[in-house]
Amino acid sequence: MRFSTRAIHAGQEADPTTGATIVPIYQTSTYTQSAVGEHKGFDYSRTVNPTRTALEKQLAALDEAAFCSAFASGMAATAAVLNALSAGDHVVVGDDLYGGTYRLFSRVLSRYDLRFTYVDMTLPEAVGAALEPRTKLIWVETPTNPLLKIVDIAAIANLKDAGQLLVVDNTFASPYFQSPLALGADAIVYSTTKYIGGHSDAVGGAVVTNDAKLAETVRFHQNAVGGVPGPFDAWLVMRGAKTLALRMRAHEANARGIAEFLAGRDDVESVFYPGLRSHPQHEIAKRQMRGFGGMVSFTLRGPEARTFAFAGRTRLFSLAESLGGVESLISLPARMTHGSIPKEERERRGVTDRLLRLSVGIEDLEDLIDDLRTALDATVEHAHR
Ligand SMILES: *Cc1c(COP(=O)(O)O)cnc(C)c1O
Repeated sequence: MRFSTRAIHAGQEADPTTGATIVPIYQTSTYTQSAVGEHKGFDYSRTVNPTRTALEKQLAALDEAAFCSAFASGMAATAAVLNALSAGDHVVVGDDLYGGTYRLFSRVLSRYDLRFTYVDMTLPEAVGAALEPRTKLIWVETPTNPLLKIVDIAAIANLKDAGQLLVVDNTFASPYFQSPLALGADAIVYSTTKYIGGHSDAVGGAVVTNDAKLAETVRFHQNAVGGVPGPFDAWLVMRGAKTLALRMRAHEANARGIAEFLAGRDDVESVFYPGLRSHPQHEIAKRQMRGFGGMVSFTLRGPEARTFAFAGRTRLFSLAESLGGVESLISLPARMTHGSIPKEERERRGVTDRLLRLSVGIEDLEDLIDDLRTALDATVEHAHR
């Protein structure tokens, strides 16, 4: 079956007790047993819940994978994968990544004696050079956040040995545009809060894999640590995921139009969008992705004051954290999502106070461009000060 058919049907059987066509929100913490230890496969909702199970089947199917565990957030999903490691293990990580992932690695897990080396993953040789005997995991985010660099997943997969897990945070591309497992990754992590949920109304995460041993470890930690989504959040993500293909096509068409609009403005310094031919990894993106996604980053010419004024001036683009919803958002990563990375470190990576990030929604493109043009023109005097 093809993508949208899987999104709409996988895990979505009619309810066995009532025939309800849509999977119900099983808002229950426990299940009545007919005799001691005799139940229908459900005993306690941290361990298993039918609404969550339906979501897990659906999300596994989106990547044509065998296993999925759903979590209460993308960070809980990330933590569950890292739970597979032991003290003393070493991880190689890309140096342009989600701020919360950096915080988890540098301020939580490093205290448990996991070691992290950050490298520019657009250079596979840098990854090769960072591998150590104790390296157990390579963590890739692509496209990266917020600079939208592209990492060649297959090239990194070729560098690793059997004892090392390659995990890809596929939140930005979504399973509609990128299939990391087919490129050699061992597991995928999602923040389903973003494109998969798609409506900015639920927080969630997922780990997807074909590796039975890893899946069992993640499932064990899902129950043992307990970062599970409630039934209603699982249901919201499941409903959102059914329209993922339609939404991703619309996000991409709008993002492309906006990237071209920005690239054509004299007061825009640089535009970061993997779909632009000028993007340094455009060819890799074309090869490993089926579309370039809905995120666009850019910098404005002129003083920082103009960037700040502009970010507060758009009307359709709300100044907000997060991404991947139907509504357009604008953010200043250095002051918002990436505020937890020390300033020096941030600037070294190119995440300056003049970098803006757009999560392009699925409103009408002409209205989005009008909104940006109005805000650019209204702040032009800042640029000449
Ligand atoms: C948002 C995000 C996360 C974290 O997910 P939460 O659902 O906010 O916990 C991880 N990775 C990327 C790329 C993200 O955008």
